[in-house]
Amino acid sequence: MNDLEQAIEEAARLIRNARHVVALVGAGLSAESGVPTFRGPEGLWTKHGEPDLRDYDRFVEDPKRWWEQRRERASRLGELVQALESAVPNAGHFALRDLEEMGRLQHIITQNIDNLHQLAGSQAITEIHGNRTKLRCVLCNHRWPFEDFSLEELPPRCPDCTSGIVKSDTVMFGEPIPRDALDECINQSRRCDCMLLVGTSAVVYPAAQFPVDVKSSGGVLIEVNPNETPLTRLCDVVLRAPAGEALTAVVERLGSATQ
Ligand SMILES: [Zn+2]
Repeated sequence: MNDLEQAIEEAARLIRNARHVVALVGAGLSAESGVPTFRGPEGLWTKHGEPDLRDYDRFVEDPKRWWEQRRERASRLGELVQALESAVPNAGHFALRDLEEMGRLQHIITQNIDNLHQLAGSQAITEIHGNRTKLRCVLCNHRWPFEDFSLEELPPRCPDCTSGIVKSDTVMFGEPIPRDALDECINQSRRCDCMLLVGTSAVVYPAAQFPVDVKSSGGVLIEVNPNETPLTRLCDVVLRAPAGEALTAVVERLGSATQ
């Protein structure tokens, strides 16, 4: 048995013995679906320049203008939009869905905005950075699918609380994480006694805090990542492989053990 096989065996054992398993997911999983990353030599920021760090401030100052500029930005970032539109869930997404259906995974906290967990069929999902296919009221956090919302009048007003302004659900630079999403993440991390760290280096707060909290309250951490991360040293088991390969193997291991 090689190191990876041994780690898969151990990961399956930890998941089987856990009461509340949560997956913390990052860009590495989306990259396996061909979604471009932001940093690195081929990253979008490297090629197109750093994003506007004042994006949310500009929205708050003049939401109408922000909405008008949105279309222009969309065409400038055509490469990203196209890659997102054509991305489909990969084996890693489906393995997480299988774990949930087997009752072995209670929640997904994702930093990805691409809607691929939903497309794979996962149910219990909290999106820290929002969802690119949705709009959200900044006041009451009500969310709608993009296509269900009329954008005739800019900026659009919330039909529910009537005083909030509606923006894309995707969290901008400088924008606070929506309170409901953050509360759910904290709630899930408190209950969690086994956290899977999938394709995330978790260096960005608040995501960086969740594994630390789980570990310090006696839970176990399983890293699924082809690369070493700052969290590796905290982890009980490390699966040094792409999520599509490693998680599929874990699902198979858990499935065969229950028969
Ligand atoms: Zn509202």
